[in-house]
Amino acid sequence: AERFDVTKIRQDFPILNRKVNGKPLVYFDNAATSQTPQQVIDCIVDYYQNYNANIHRGVHALSQEATDAYEKARQIIQQHFNAKESKEIILTAGTTHSINLVANGFEKFLQKGDEILVSGLEHHSNIVPWQMLCEKTGALLKVLPMSETGTLNMSQFEVMLNPNTKLVMVNHVSNALGTINPIQEIIKKAHDFGAKVLVDGAQSAPHLKADVQALDVDFYTCSAHKICGPTGIGMLYGKRELLEALPPYQGGGEMIDQVSFEKTTYAGLPNKFEAGTPNICGGIAFGRAINYMNEIGFENIQAYEHELLLYATKRLEEFDNIIIYGTSPEQKTAVISFNFEGLHPYDVGTLVDKMGIAVRTGHHCAQPIMEFFKIPGTIRASFSFYNTKEEIDLMIDALKKANSMLL
Ligand code: PMP
Repeated sequence: AERFDVTKIRQDFPILNRKVNGKPLVYFDNAATSQTPQQVIDCIVDYYQNYNANIHRGVHALSQEATDAYEKARQIIQQHFNAKESKEIILTAGTTHSINLVANGFEKFLQKGDEILVSGLEHHSNIVPWQMLCEKTGALLKVLPMSETGTLNMSQFEVMLNPNTKLVMVNHVSNALGTINPIQEIIKKAHDFGAKVLVDGAQSAPHLKADVQALDVDFYTCSAHKICGPTGIGMLYGKRELLEALPPYQGGGEMIDQVSFEKTTYAGLPNKFEAGTPNICGGIAFGRAINYMNEIGFENIQAYEHELLLYATKRLEEFDNIIIYGTSPEQKTAVISFNFEGLHPYDVGTLVDKMGIAVRTGHHCAQPIMEFFKIPGTIRASFSFYNTKEEIDLMIDALKKANSMLL
């Protein structure tokens, strides 16, 4: 990777030049979705301009070009996450789709009395599918509690694990608080009891590189739209033997071997889980986005974003009525979830939007965390490698104005 130059990087993102409410856009909602560099936009345009075709079935040139590009993207994703084989990478519509795919498949392996453990820091998409699975199977959902600082209670984890624990679900990084969870330790301890582990990597993929073999994780998933790719595409990594054992999620074209009205046999991996015409362009652009991020370099990204996080934390601490939720900057990605004493997060968010600042307000699809802190929501500023300290200064100025208007 080249030396990190944020001015040069910002030129890759045309959207950063636009104005919002007459003010330059300051985009700090990166944890919800990231912006798209020109390189990825060009890749999408190139697909529709030059080789748009359905894949895997055509013998004609366009179909083969599209198939090659789509399968090449799968290999880029495989290499990025260090999966053993590209077959272990299922292209899905995103993290939510991936988790539902696994949850649906596990119905076959669970029975009454089995236990499913989810962390108390999860996004709704890593809670609700497991509740639905428990309803169908009679398995019991247990919650690994978090502490005041937004970290998981690991001694409690050891107490909760038992031979009935079949599955453990945890995010690598929390979207609401930015906590980096000790997934290596969680995976190891869960495996000691024979439980399988699904790690939701939606919020880690933008900031750090996960090695699924080194982690020995059973399932790992992320969404492309949070790592400079388009919406509607993501991936599920699963160990080959587990993916082979899971039943297909949806039936249709592409996922079969032989179909007759008497009996249908399924295709092998990864096609078994990719029924129908997939998001071809999205998959190709996902691969391009991963290459783009690697061209910048994850070490550069992490170091720079950490600097932004420290700077923004220091500046926010200038407010005497600030409450920052979660753990120390050393244990989280570049996310700050905060409130001002006496102010509703929604009012603050609405006012700073008028000043061009895009932050997230609300429960961040993690209502149990808000319940824990007994608050309606937080203001969340989440930074990316294309943000700057000058933008943080603009946010602080806007927050000062909002405070003086509302207090
Ligand atoms: N898990 C986490 C931790 C997330 O942050 C998100 C996105 N907000 C999701 C899951 C769901 O991702 P998607 O909406 O792309 O399916």
